[in-house]
Amino acid sequence: MTCEHLVVVGASLAGLRGAEAARTAGYAGRLTLIGDEPHRPYDRPPLSKQVLTGSVDAAATALPNLVPLEAEWLLGSAATALDRAKRTVTLRDGRQVIYDRLLIATGARPRPWLDAEQAKFAGVHTLRSRDDSAALRMALAGKPARVLVIGGGFIGCEVAAACRDLDLPVTLVETGPAVLAGVLGIYLGAVVGALHEARGVDLIFDAKVEALEDDGTGRVVRARLEDGRTIETDCVVVALGAIRNTEWLAGSGLAFDEGGVDCDADGYALDDAGQPDRTIAAAGDIARFPHPLYDDRRVALEHWGHAVTQGAHAARLLIGQGAGSYAEVPTFWSSQGGVTIKSVGLTDGADSIVIAQGDPKTGRFLVVYGREGRCIAAVSFDSVRWLPAYAEMVASRAPFPPPGGGVDEGPLTPMASGLPRGDE
Ligand SMILES: Cc1cc2nc3c(=O)[nH]c(=O)nc-3n(C[C@H](O)[C@H](O)[C@H](O)COP(=O)(O)OP(=O)(O)OC[C@H]3O[C@@H](n4cnc5c(N)ncnc54)[C@H](O)[C@@H]3O)c2cc1C
Repeated sequence: MTCEHLVVVGASLAGLRGAEAARTAGYAGRLTLIGDEPHRPYDRPPLSKQVLTGSVDAAATALPNLVPLEAEWLLGSAATALDRAKRTVTLRDGRQVIYDRLLIATGARPRPWLDAEQAKFAGVHTLRSRDDSAALRMALAGKPARVLVIGGGFIGCEVAAACRDLDLPVTLVETGPAVLAGVLGIYLGAVVGALHEARGVDLIFDAKVEALEDDGTGRVVRARLEDGRTIETDCVVVALGAIRNTEWLAGSGLAFDEGGVDCDADGYALDDAGQPDRTIAAAGDIARFPHPLYDDRRVALEHWGHAVTQGAHAARLLIGQGAGSYAEVPTFWSSQGGVTIKSVGLTDGADSIVIAQGDPKTGRFLVVYGREGRCIAAVSFDSVRWLPAYAEMVASRAPFPPPGGGVDEGPLTPMASGLPRGDE
């Protein structure tokens, strides 16, 4: 059957770039984008950076349209159900949209604070959407006495950095031994932690916020840690990672959980029996797929560049212009405290690292991650010019450790990665 109606659920980065790729590949049929947010697609990276410091307005983050779409936009309309036998997507208002091919790009949302009542206190924020960012920006502009960031992942670190840019007192509490330890390992996590500490962020490690307390009127005033310590705070940012927006697929017979929608190597969504549904693909944060570079381990990425490339890949697949399995090398960036961190590959399961270029003391360096004698990832700090060469090593699974940086240098000395092994 040819595709006469391509429906995209999730009107954000992966959905938009997918729709554009379909048009670019010559798809001339009907195109519908369904989004639960009222806004046209916008860019999320500035929401935890420039929008918080006030240098970019939340409303100025719209993604540019790269090609004319001639699409029907159903915005402010969450999809609530998928019936694969009838090929319909049901919207919250009861409307039904019939598809020939369906691109699932419903992304993720923040993991909420563990206590639903405390999560509703005034002054407690999460950060995913343009509206979340505008609300947090307004709170920060009101000069809170102390911001508490719960969670030392990328979003938590970027928010803490933005607070210091605004000269606000900020405490970051992390359950692990360092910020970003789960992604970068303890060594690099400590480097990033030192950066934030030097800029005035109070860091508390190996500690867990147990409860948020209010002033009796529903406004947050304090956080209580498991070890009994308290932190007085009037602005809390809960940055505990993301869960995928998959609930609307309940009863569809597709294989999914809060970690994503399972796909095959091409990008087709799998059903409960593990068989691909060749009318449906998933892309972006929502998609969990076997990555050939990582022994077909199923991964769900939260990377901007991945949403772009996989969105386009999945849309081309659905309109019959697919080009085999999806094997892009993952890339990511973050900027915090004036430092740009860029990565290629996935660090998960690395057993060793080496400083392959530069010197952490100078702030400009590049670290390569190895697993079982192969290069699996590289992370650069303010030294992006070195990255492309290491991206090639990661893509070709080159031997680890890589060669030294200069002619006079001996072999590089690996250190323990400080990351949990992927198979443990
Ligand atoms: C604050 C922030 C900062 C970031 N910074 C960086 C960065 O510096 N570098 C980097 O590489 N990546 C960064 N990212 C990650 C990057 O933005 C994401 O990987 C990317 O947005 C994923 O795009 P997506 O289209 O798959 O999902 P999303 O952008 O999450 O979009 C999914 C869309 O689907 C909608 N939706 C959900 N459920 C339904 C439904 N049932 N019906 C209809 N619509 C629905 C959602 O509301 C949303 O609009 C950041 C993310 C955030 C939140």
